[in-house]
Formats: sequence, C-alpha cells, structure tokens
Amino acid sequence: MINPTLRLPADLQQRRGSANSEHKTHMTDSGHILAFMAHPDDIEILCAGTLIHLRNKGYAIHMATMTAGDGGSMDLSGEEIARLRLKEAQASADLVQATYHCADEKDFVISYQPATIKRVVEIMRICQPFLVITHPPSDYMLDHELTSQLVRNACFCAGAPNMKTEALPAAPRLVGIPYLYYAAPIENKDIWGSPVRPGIAFDTTEVMNLKEAMLTCHASQREWLMQHHGIDEFVDSMRRWSAELGKAAGVAYAEGFRQHRGHAYPRDDKLTEILADKQVEILPA
Ligand SMILES: [Zn+2]
Repeated sequence: MINPTLRLPADLQQRRGSANSEHKTHMTDSGHILAFMAHPDDIEILCAGTLIHLRNKGYAIHMATMTAGDGGSMDLSGEEIARLRLKEAQASADLVQATYHCADEKDFVISYQPATIKRVVEIMRICQPFLVITHPPSDYMLDHELTSQLVRNACFCAGAPNMKTEALPAAPRLVGIPYLYYAAPIENKDIWGSPVRPGIAFDTTEVMNLKEAMLTCHASQREWLMQHHGIDEFVDSMRRWSAELGKAAGVAYAEGFRQHRGHAYPRDDKLTEILADKQVEILPA
C-alpha cells in the first residue's frame, strides 16, 4: 500500500501534523483491516459503510464476531439459530469479499477469561490487521463492552511472543500494535441515554444501498428484534441512526468513530488519512 498520508489534502496535513510528529508509530499498513464486534449484524449496523469505502480503496476486509448469535430467536434452539446466523454473516461478508470469523462465544455471557482472550488474539493474528474497529468501551449491553475490552487487549498483546493462544497451528504474531477505533454506541446514545457525537466521521451516503444489502443478509433477526426490542424493522433503525449522524454532519448518512489513543497505541488518525475524501465533521449534539 502507498502511504495514505501522501494523499492528504494540505489543510488536513497541517491540522494533524503537529500531533503526529510526537507519536510516530511503527505499525505499517499491511493492507488488512479487521472489524471485530459482538454479534452477527453489529458490524453491518455500525461500520459497514466505512468498510465498504475501505474495500473500494483496495483494502482487504476481515469481519469477526464474538458469538454466532445463538440468543437471537424466540423459537429456534441456540444451536439451530447459530447455524443459520453463521450462514447469514458469511453471506454479508461475501458481499464485500471479506473473510468471516466467529470466536464461538455465547450470547449474553461473553466473558473476560483466558480461553476467550486467546481466541480473540488468535483471530487477530489470522487476519493480521494494521487497523481494527470494535465497539466503544461503554455501550448498551455488556456483550458489547466485553468485546471492546477483549479486542483492545488483543491489539495490545497479539504481537507479544509469549502470548500463546494454544491454537494448532498457531498464526504468526502481529508486528506492532494496530490502530484501534471504536464505532458509535448503539442508537448513538451512551448508557445514560445521552447523545454521543463521535469526533471522527465519514459520509456513507453513496454506499448505503450495499450497507443495507449486507444487513438484510441477517434475515432471521427481523422477527427477533421485533419481539425482543420492540423495533419494527431493524433496517429502518440502522438508517435512522446513520441519518442522525449524517444530519449532524450535513450529509444524508454517516458513521462515526473514536480512536483509542492510550499509551503504546498508534495516535495518528490513520483511518481519516485513508478516507480523507469521505471525512465529515459532526457538530456537537
Ligand atoms: Zn450486538
């Protein structure tokens, strides 16, 4: 991959230049990007538009979920609905030529424990991403929050030789810590019900039809969400949440992100550098 920094408009380079010089990262652009979220359909709702943009720029996309969505039915057994939802997730990934991986955890009981930690690290090593997208640390349900922690940890330790996953054969370790981005919380609201307005956002209007096609691969979920969440149509809710961020940015639809910039993680905003032509500014709520 060419260095996307070179494609930045001059004003953007100037705006980010001083912050970047202090925090140079050694993580090089592998051309592989991983979205790792809790359940099948989360990626499609929260960041598929951005993944489509990245795919269109030549990046290889990897999609992973912690569970196969075994809790997502009022009628089928966990095993039956999981089998169905794995096929739906793969069909969605196929639409953007992405690979799909499942960490085989169960809905509602995703836990921060050694076996799970190792599975997440192994998937990350298989995908070899230089940039990772997951849920924000605080979100409406704990499966999302635990996934956020597990993915954050995997970014940190997937490069450590002594972090053994016990997979046979084990995938090679990462070289460096990937760029880590958190998607918006569900409904663009925090757990107190207050609106969240991400500092990084991209116009997804032109790719909404494909994003919707990916989401509708999860056909089993329409009825489940209607019964459990009281939402009549989950495609409509995805459009509504994207439109809410879009309105705040002066476009029809947008997706928002926040970058993890804690100690040792890359701090230059690589995602915005790559998608500079899609970048929009979101006004505070
Ligand atoms: Zn979810």
